[in-house]
Amino acid sequence: MRGKDSFGAEVLSGESSISEFQEALISWFRKNGKRFPWRLTNDPYAILVSESMLQQTRIATVLERRYFERWMERFPTMEALASAEESEILKTWEGLGYYNRARNLQKAAKAVCDKHGGEFPRDETAIRALPGVGPYTAGAVLSFAFDRRGVIVDGNVSRVLSRVFAFPESVDSSGGVKKIWEFADRLTPENRVRFYNSAIMELGQRVCSKNRPRCLVCPVSKWCSAFHRGIAEDFPVKKAKRKATRKVERVALFVRGGKIFLTREEGSRRKGLWRLPELSEADASDLEESFRFDYSITRFRVTLVVHVLRGPMAGQSGGSGRGEWFSLGETDRWPALGSPYRRAILEFQDLGEA
Ligand code: SF4
Repeated sequence: MRGKDSFGAEVLSGESSISEFQEALISWFRKNGKRFPWRLTNDPYAILVSESMLQQTRIATVLERRYFERWMERFPTMEALASAEESEILKTWEGLGYYNRARNLQKAAKAVCDKHGGEFPRDETAIRALPGVGPYTAGAVLSFAFDRRGVIVDGNVSRVLSRVFAFPESVDSSGGVKKIWEFADRLTPENRVRFYNSAIMELGQRVCSKNRPRCLVCPVSKWCSAFHRGIAEDFPVKKAKRKATRKVERVALFVRGGKIFLTREEGSRRKGLWRLPELSEADASDLEESFRFDYSITRFRVTLVVHVLRGPMAGQSGGSGRGEWFSLGETDRWPALGSPYRRAILEFQDLGEA
């Protein structure tokens, strides 16, 4: 039996309507799906790498800067990654931010080599036990690498489901997250999961987009409750965002004989990364500001104020931590730098003052 809700959407409840929904998505994907490089492989390690990259970074950025290809060229296997130097791993990851993702990839590679004889586990519990692997990543590896049933919910899937079910609760509350996972679990097929999961994610990226969902070309519009009520853009419901905390960070850009001075980051989260030396307000009080820009990190909106310091004494004071001089022109030989500091150096070069 097929029914409609009071607004005309087909109700997604019985097995036949769910399988029609799955079929509609899969056929749409077969005609419209993009051939991303990570979709051309079923190597679970490569899938894990791509999913780790895409967790906090837009697909367009990963594609344009060839992060995935460059990583796979440099560390083609888990063995290669497991035995690599951390500095090289961070350098290859540079620009993607959230460096713990790169460290976790190496930990996961080591765990696969040490505990599973180098063979990627195919079982959900064992995959979930790998460092840095949560329910989403485990579902992605199960489905994309092994075509086994793995449920996934990312921002795109959550948006699609919140609209299809006109889900009235906030999708970022703990109850809301649980419910969206239940919807996803209910709709995920037993077979062709690789296609289904790719399809629902891509539908969220390209059709059921945040601001202007293109409902008239959507393959699942007949089941979409929000569309039939004409309120698609009211979903997903989200908790009010906390305002970012503003901060000012002052750094010294010491220049001497075509070289710049960089220091090692302190603290375990940023271990292995380098930066421009930080200046306290007191250190900077007599220094001229050269330029500034804003960047965001976690819940902070930071204004980075750069003081360019030149001359024979440059580099003798003001820097914190251990440091070294690096040639300004040899960008490839710089160590792994936090993105804002790399941007500051590149902006300094663009000013033509280098
Ligand atoms: Fe999204 Fe519109 Fe499709 Fe509903 S009909 S899933 S709102 S694009």
